[in-house]
Amino acid sequence: MRPQLILLGAPGTGKGTQAKNIVESFGYNHISTGDLLRNEIAKDSELGQKVKGIMDRGDLVNDQVILELLNANCDIGDTAYIFDGFPRNIEQVKLLETEVLKGSASRAIFFDIDLEVLIERISNRRIAPKSGEIYNLISRPPKVPGKCDISGEDLIHRKDDNEETVRNRLEVFKSTIAPILEYYEEKGSLVRIDASKSAVEVFTLVEAAVNN
Ligand code: AMP
Repeated sequence: MRPQLILLGAPGTGKGTQAKNIVESFGYNHISTGDLLRNEIAKDSELGQKVKGIMDRGDLVNDQVILELLNANCDIGDTAYIFDGFPRNIEQVKLLETEVLKGSASRAIFFDIDLEVLIERISNRRIAPKSGEIYNLISRPPKVPGKCDISGEDLIHRKDDNEETVRNRLEVFKSTIAPILEYYEEKGSLVRIDASKSAVEVFTLVEAAVNN
């Protein structure tokens, strides 16, 4: 069975875009904890109401909440998953191993990039919620302004993609990433890729990481 894939990297490094490419080329299932949480907010569920403020600030949602959400939406069995946006701290790394993967082989791919460029990248990001397409007003603008090329739906600017929240999300990332990388490095399952390249070039690196 293919290894489970764990995409690591700051917000805006292209994990979501590459996860979509991996699904199309390799048939993985994509699990984004951020998308699952945004779904709960869209449904206005009890959980959604609880996490909305936390997400608007760019802070991390409680580990147990994330674990429950994951277990409700993924069942490893014979299925190969891409974990995108999880784990976010060393406690979640341990929860992933013991409560989700339970011995299933995994590989972590770290999207490495200079954090300074990310604020601009994220401010220019626009999302099509239904089709899942991700645009960038500079590097990948939609053909018709404000509309998704595939579905025609209106593009949105995520509420937490404003500069103040992005700065906090980057601070949270900086304060949590080191032990996560150390863990996967020691395990011998970490692949670092240069995420500053174009999406097409990054996918070539991702393909090599998945195949090797
Ligand atoms: P993302 O879409 O991955 O950028 O996540 C958006 C927001 O959802 C984050 O800023 C957190 O508030 C929350 N979130 C997503 N994944 C996690 C996670 N694994 N642990 C805690 N909070 C998370």
